[in-house]
Amino acid sequence: MSGLWTRGYRDEVWSQLKGGSGAQKWDLVVIGGGITGAGILGEAARHGIKALLVEGQDFASGTSSRSTKLVHGGLRYLRQGQFLVTRKSVKERERLMAEGKGLVDPLGFSLAAFPGDQMPKWMYGVGLAMYDALAWKWAHEAQSKAEIIARIPPLMSSAVQGGYRYFDAQTDDARLVIRVLREAVRHGGTAINYVRADKLLRTKDGKVRGVVLKDMAPDGTSRTAEVEAKVVISATGAWADELRGELGHAKRLRKIRGSHLTFRADRLPLPEAVSLLHPRDQRAVFAIPWEGVTILGTTDVDHGELTDEPAISQAETEYLLEAATKAFPSYDLTEKDVISTWSGVRPVIDTGKADPSKESREHAIWKEDGLLTISGGKLTTFVVMARDALAAVEQELGELGPRTRIFDEGPDEVAWPSSLDEAGRARLMGRFGIEVSEIVGGDLARPIDGSIALWSELRHAARTEAVVTLSDLLLRRVRLGLLLPNAGLDQIAKIRAIAQPELGWDDAKWEREVVDYKKTWKKAYSSPT
Ligand SMILES: Cc1cc2nc3c(=O)[nH]c(=O)nc-3n(C[C@H](O)[C@H](O)[C@H](O)COP(=O)(O)OP(=O)(O)OC[C@H]3O[C@@H](n4cnc5c(N)ncnc54)[C@H](O)[C@@H]3O)c2cc1C
Repeated sequence: MSGLWTRGYRDEVWSQLKGGSGAQKWDLVVIGGGITGAGILGEAARHGIKALLVEGQDFASGTSSRSTKLVHGGLRYLRQGQFLVTRKSVKERERLMAEGKGLVDPLGFSLAAFPGDQMPKWMYGVGLAMYDALAWKWAHEAQSKAEIIARIPPLMSSAVQGGYRYFDAQTDDARLVIRVLREAVRHGGTAINYVRADKLLRTKDGKVRGVVLKDMAPDGTSRTAEVEAKVVISATGAWADELRGELGHAKRLRKIRGSHLTFRADRLPLPEAVSLLHPRDQRAVFAIPWEGVTILGTTDVDHGELTDEPAISQAETEYLLEAATKAFPSYDLTEKDVISTWSGVRPVIDTGKADPSKESREHAIWKEDGLLTISGGKLTTFVVMARDALAAVEQELGELGPRTRIFDEGPDEVAWPSSLDEAGRARLMGRFGIEVSEIVGGDLARPIDGSIALWSELRHAARTEAVVTLSDLLLRRVRLGLLLPNAGLDQIAKIRAIAQPELGWDDAKWEREVVDYKKTWKKAYSSPT
């Protein structure tokens, strides 16, 4: 077997999937390579279950690379009385921060109160006291007008009246998925991207006994394989009704789109995050510093069918800019300042509420004809979700042992280059864990212009992170398409010099990939003008 996810790994996995006497026997097939599937593969592998994960597109290409990137209890869910979700989430947030330093980090929030807000300031105080109490900590404080402006200067010209400061955490969602998946593979799991579960295999009495897999790699030879397993879990997020539909079950999910705008940090410089109520509908909206840019999000609108990459609408753009104008009026932010956008589709369990924001964010598990489906929930609670899913198939797979670490420990010693400060080192350790030494050596351990990511991260991704398309590389492994103006294309020559040889693409393939990447970016990640 070649190295972890290096060139050629897909062929090697396919050879294990083919039928015949040499075929692997699987305990578990997990369908879907977002955070939910990754978490399940991780828990399964750590407990000795022989498991295969298949992802129809790229790892994390569904909702798990398009979130707001918070690891949080969800203060707004508390407002809706969803105490259980909040309690579970704050506990997980604390665990993730403790083990995943550099990948899941604390983030200060200033909750800004404005005239006209339908929530009185004292109520924020009560909510935050509850929020902290659920995490067994006391980390929030009231802020006067002068204090909040001193902390977040861009609020200066607004009508802010003061507010509260509290703490949550943030991550890089796609990198979180990659770290969980890679460690799952190190523990004996198998994960392959661009392989779709095309059809369910069933016994004569209708029970799911496996899946028909289809290779979806853009240039791949057309191959299929039938794979049997004791258990099949669908962790297909917003797509979960498709496989359930194949079994004849009625749809359960409501697909709700949330969109984000990003600005260069020098256009909207925020030392910490700001949370405010939208003037139109009083929903909470966040402005968040992340990886050197400022994110503004999110919306909550019904999405309809998932036929294409979700993308922000003009109405959502205007809605978010309206919130920016309330909080930072002197910054005059317009569509022209937006460097990138992204939209994710949240699978929530449909209870028919008129307002999409009022639907519960709790996850759901259905066991139907031998297929276990898990959908809904949050990035933050992926370990809880994984364990709930595996507990529901205990009869078939045996009792799951006690919970272990979420992430493996990093190496004891790393030869850090002197150019990297403490935060830079933590960031790399959080993203790469035990593999961090592969990133820090050599002359590519320097930042990509305009970004805090290093050129060596790009090389590592191209070499060993299962990159099949240029979009995988630039949107999800190293997130230049979100973080740099013009989709990062101003640096495409340097990107090519490093990535093309690692990927083994000839010139024609490289050029086709650039065209496809531009199309994808324009359709689903570009600024609206
Ligand atoms: C706008 C927005 C903001 C959010 N912000 C946050 C946040 O800040 N913090 C937080 O904790 N949570 C947040 N969430 C929630 C969180 O992002 C999701 O709950 C989580 O990413 C869902 O992960 P998943 O693995 O279940 O689904 P996905 O990530 O969508 O993964 C499902 C995967 O299944 C694959 N798939 C589908 N059908 C098949 C098939 N037949 N064969 C093979 N593969 C298949 C898809 O390609 C997809 O990659 C947010 C959600 C949205 C929409």
